[in-house]
Amino acid sequence: MAELRLEHIYKIYDKNVQAVTDFNLHIHDKEFIVFVGPSGCGKTTTLRMIAGLEDISKGELFIDDVLMNDVESKDRSIAMVFQSYALYPHMTVYDNMAFSLKLRKVDKKEIDRRVKEAAKILGLEDYLKRKPKALSGGQRQRVALGRAIVREAKVFLMDEPLSNLDAKLRVQMRAEIQKLHQRIQTTTIYVTHDQTEAMTMATRLVVMKDGLIQQIGTPKEVYNTPHNMFVAGFIGSPSMNLFHCRLTETEILLDGQSFPIPPKYLPLLQRKNYLGKEIVMGIRPEDLQITDIISPYAFKATVDVAELLGAETFLYSSLVTQPFIARVQADSNFQPTEVVTLVMKEEKIHFFDPETEERI
Ligand code: ATP
Repeated sequence: MAELRLEHIYKIYDKNVQAVTDFNLHIHDKEFIVFVGPSGCGKTTTLRMIAGLEDISKGELFIDDVLMNDVESKDRSIAMVFQSYALYPHMTVYDNMAFSLKLRKVDKKEIDRRVKEAAKILGLEDYLKRKPKALSGGQRQRVALGRAIVREAKVFLMDEPLSNLDAKLRVQMRAEIQKLHQRIQTTTIYVTHDQTEAMTMATRLVVMKDGLIQQIGTPKEVYNTPHNMFVAGFIGSPSMNLFHCRLTETEILLDGQSFPIPPKYLPLLQRKNYLGKEIVMGIRPEDLQITDIISPYAFKATVDVAELLGAETFLYSSLVTQPFIARVQADSNFQPTEVVTLVMKEEKIHFFDPETEERI
């Protein structure tokens, strides 16, 4: 059982670099939480504060209701997995996994039991006598995970553990880490700047920017209802299309084109006083589809570039002057300069305030 509470946590480095601002999060037992955001947004700093490798400037960290701020890293019952596997090159796989337990003076038999069990979970049984240099990248990363498992810690902290692996291996290890979590269910906090990793692994995501939490939610919640334009742009690939528009009482005007305001949004936009104002309309690439049906949400566009990706095609085009990407089925061969008719899924339109960039 491991529950974490981060309450009003700040990290202020010397010279007034504020890396993390008012971070609040309650992590439940067995959760797989992913901190995601662009480089420099404070993910690693937050993880290191949880690990006790970095002081907390302000705020409180609890693990299972015990205040951890002044507890030494080694006494926090956490195990870390880093991007650089940090294996000892002169030790065998067995000794790499056993090392931290030996330091803690765990009984030899118990060490053997734990190492063998971890090796079994990770499929490393045949490699226990090898040295790290005789292992592949994926196997090395598995040893690094094994070192965390043998600790039987309450919390796993993982900092970009897959970023040294090639694309194919990353996908494979992603699945292995998920399987591992399903099996041993240790509360895990995982840091990445890769939104695909975040979306596929997390029970809940914490999206960060400039040291501030932008949104906390399940991958589905964050994808379907991004709280602001940053989250809308960061989660999802290709990014959500954002169009600068103006609303009338009934229509969305976009550079001379007009679309009816979808009835489901009209009361909200009216209540929040957006009619007659500038607005940002968001639509995900997959919510723009080729059509031959007449619809008030259809428009014509000229293909600039068509990227065929097997099952689907990314069409790069513009709605009058504003560029967008549509993700359509790859069943026809689109050519540059070809004029296509696309339709927006009206129930999938998002609206944002152009000034605050917040979701309306
Ligand atoms: P990345 O994905 O590149 O690792 P990150 O989101 O993990 O980025 P952090 O490493 O937590 O970001 O850094 C957050 C901010 O704090 C950055 O502006 C960084 O320059 C700054 N920072 C990190 N460590 C220190 C330090 N020891 N002293 C001063 N500033 C630091």
